Amino acid sequence: MELDSWWRTRTVGEAMGQGYTFLRLTCRCGRISEYPFPLLLQRPGVTRYSFLGNIPFRCQKCGSTQPSIGVSSHVVGTSSDH
Ligand SMILES: [Zn+2]
Repeated sequence: MELDSWWRTRTVGEAMGQGYTFLRLTCRCGRISEYPFPLLLQRPGVTRYSFLGNIPFRCQKCGSTQPSIGVSSHVVGTSSDH
């Protein structure tokens, strides 16, 4: 979708500035992962000025490195990744 490519060209700071707190990755295998922005900023090389599309991600289920990128302001469901 267009929305996906649009977020790829936004920065972490822009998304946070719009009130979003999570980056949501949707893999074609169906797995959805959510990363709080403060957690992303702890990654080496990631700053508020990093484009979301430039942050390397890897699906923990199928290994795909090209999940769809979206954002969220809240967590959906409960975590099952303990
Ligand atoms: Zn996957």
